[in-house]
Amino acid sequence: MEVRFLADSMLGKLAKWLRVMGYDAYYESFDGAHRIYHLVQDGRLLLSRNRPITEQYPDSLLIRSDQVKEQLQEIRDAGYIKADRSKWFMRCLICNIQINEVTREDARENIPEYIFYQNKTAIRFCPSCGRYFWPGSHRNRMIRQLEEWGFKYS
Ligand SMILES: [Zn+2]
Repeated sequence: MEVRFLADSMLGKLAKWLRVMGYDAYYESFDGAHRIYHLVQDGRLLLSRNRPITEQYPDSLLIRSDQVKEQLQEIRDAGYIKADRSKWFMRCLICNIQINEVTREDARENIPEYIFYQNKTAIRFCPSCGRYFWPGSHRNRMIRQLEEWGFKYS
């Protein structure tokens, strides 16, 4: 089964980029260890920059860098993620759940017309927050960023 992550308070940006790459990355600002415990018990791999915290949990990875680029590389080098382009942009960056392709009718009613006509496929919808997603310049910037960071098409 694919790894699911739990990013601690200092790693919100990292969680976002893991979601961009299609990974399940739970994130919240924790106010206590109690909740971390339950989420780790639930099978999540804890990512933390805090060594005493990672030492408490065998299912954890200590993140050394404070740069998101190097953080992603650390997780890749540990063998937990790879650049699987078919998974990119398949997850809502806000809700952390998978987004589903919608029908043409649904898309026509719910997104701007010019976007509807530019995108014959790949219009997706988040059932949690109700946002629609489609390919575009914002997404292309993120793809270029990931490629610059060494996550080449594979
Ligand atoms: Zn959402």
